[in-house]
Amino acid sequence: MTPSQGACTGVIDQKIDLLVIGAGASGASVAYEATRRGLRVALLEAGDIGCATSCRSSKMLHGGVRYLELAFKTFDLAQLSLVREALMERAHWIEQAPFLAQPFELALPAANCFEKAYYGVGLGIYDALSGQRSIGNSRLLSKTQIHQALPLLRAGVNGGVAYSDGQFNDARLNLLIALTAERAGAILRSNCRVVALEHRADGQLCGAISETSMGEQEHWRASVVVNATGMQADSLRKMADANIAPRMLTSRGVHVVLEANLCPEGIGLLLPATDDGRVLFLLPFYGRTLVGTTDTACKLNEACAPSQAEQHYLIEYVKRWFPDLGQPIVKSCWAGGRPLLKPAGKAINSSRVVREHEVETLPCGLISVMGGKWTTCRPMALDTLKAMETLLGRAMPTPSALPLLGAAQNPALTQTLLLEQQQQLRQLLPETPIQDQQIAHLQASYGLEALALVEKNSAKQLEPLSDVIPICEAEIDRAINQEHARTPTDVLARRCRLAMVDMSEAQRLLPVVQEHLAHADLPKGELDLQH
Ligand SMILES: Cc1cc2nc3c(=O)[nH]c(=O)nc-3n(C[C@H](O)[C@H](O)[C@H](O)COP(=O)(O)OP(=O)(O)OC[C@H]3O[C@@H](n4cnc5c(N)ncnc54)[C@H](O)[C@@H]3O)c2cc1C
Repeated sequence: MTPSQGACTGVIDQKIDLLVIGAGASGASVAYEATRRGLRVALLEAGDIGCATSCRSSKMLHGGVRYLELAFKTFDLAQLSLVREALMERAHWIEQAPFLAQPFELALPAANCFEKAYYGVGLGIYDALSGQRSIGNSRLLSKTQIHQALPLLRAGVNGGVAYSDGQFNDARLNLLIALTAERAGAILRSNCRVVALEHRADGQLCGAISETSMGEQEHWRASVVVNATGMQADSLRKMADANIAPRMLTSRGVHVVLEANLCPEGIGLLLPATDDGRVLFLLPFYGRTLVGTTDTACKLNEACAPSQAEQHYLIEYVKRWFPDLGQPIVKSCWAGGRPLLKPAGKAINSSRVVREHEVETLPCGLISVMGGKWTTCRPMALDTLKAMETLLGRAMPTPSALPLLGAAQNPALTQTLLLEQQQQLRQLLPETPIQDQQIAHLQASYGLEALALVEKNSAKQLEPLSDVIPICEAEIDRAINQEHARTPTDVLARRCRLAMVDMSEAQRLLPVVQEHLAHADLPKGELDLQH
């Protein structure tokens, strides 16, 4: 066995079936699907679970209206089937995790009847493509209706079309998928970076070496190694084969969160064509407005650093479409890198790259799952397992049912039990003016596990600490003790979304979180949305 670098200080003796590198949406899904097929799995993550692209999305489960238009303009059936696949997945997640993924409406504004008819037909096709898995039909909006839904929208909009997509909590769904695999037997390690791959004498991959931030190394022996490192996929591919041609392009997408609630009825706005040919979303977000996104080709190490120019670009569009708002107040801002797949050997504009995934198996056996989008992480995982079957020359065992943590055995039962739990939470939680908000927050974060959290903790630990997102101390402890949180950003940006909704409010709670971290012998750390 020849490690390509580094010496091991620890050896994981138990030989595992599958080592998954990277615990974003893709890697967590691979680990979950493999675990429910009875495989022994380890999922290693360099930072926090979902800390890279998967917690920085627009938080939409969607087929992609933009891709539908592209499919028709270019007569591209592959693009169309991609939209349909994503629409099926949209319905899947809304069913499986209804507490953190729901349908919502977006309005496309039209200046005249022609535009309205064009959007109406296009969105009718979008509805039709989802078939039996529809989550709501599109509808025409009159001028009065669109201005009622978006009261500060500029004059000159003469109606529009509203259509449905899904909105979800990306960081928590990512976490729940990984934790579900862990509870079913998978090994889950955060802050554990793979620094080398190991090959047998015949050149075939047989494991990897990981390293923690303290420099402790571990050696993992596995039948199959999957590279699910998103934007970093090329660095793992290079560890496997130093001469391999890179396949990834990185494009940065910035979001800003505005204090103003521009979507008071819960209907978002899709601006279908900016001056530079992109789409922009303004989405309802915790009583504020989420605006995104940009699409700027960038270096890997710049993917999570929003520039002033990009924030300015977004704000200018908000001002153009909502002129009576004045200068918007920005409460939070973050950026994420799209893991785009470059067609081999071509220079290409990233907004034109089809968001399609690819599963590649290198001659040494490294399987890389690359590209795709959040909504389609499950088909990505299933294709990865198919590649594993081909590599091993044997079929996977039949999957057993494995509901996500917080969900019941079937979607109908989940809904029934959530309603019952709502009443129980009302009896147990401290009576505060924001009790309803706290119940909604607890259910949205933990699903059916909210009751156990509340039952185990005292009234003081359950006291809401903020009225932006009513997080309480019991949740901070749970994040640290049961959900692998290690830094203030893990707790305040990913376990709850406070820092992504309102950075100054998250800063206010930082000392409380630091105290809990210190109590658990962890470094206090600072809040940093770039990590
Ligand atoms: C701005 C923006 C908006 C988006 N909006 C949407 C949307 O609304 N809906 C949608 O469906 N999709 C959306 N996407 C796409 C979607 O977010 C991504 O496709 C998806 O999150 C990628 O997940 P991933 O697991 O492949 O990558 P990542 O989430 O980046 O996960 C890869 C993980 O691998 C880890 N890693 C890297 N190297 C190592 C190593 N050596 N050892 C161990 N771990 C390692 C990283 O730390 C990281 O956590 C958006 C993307 C962007 C950028």
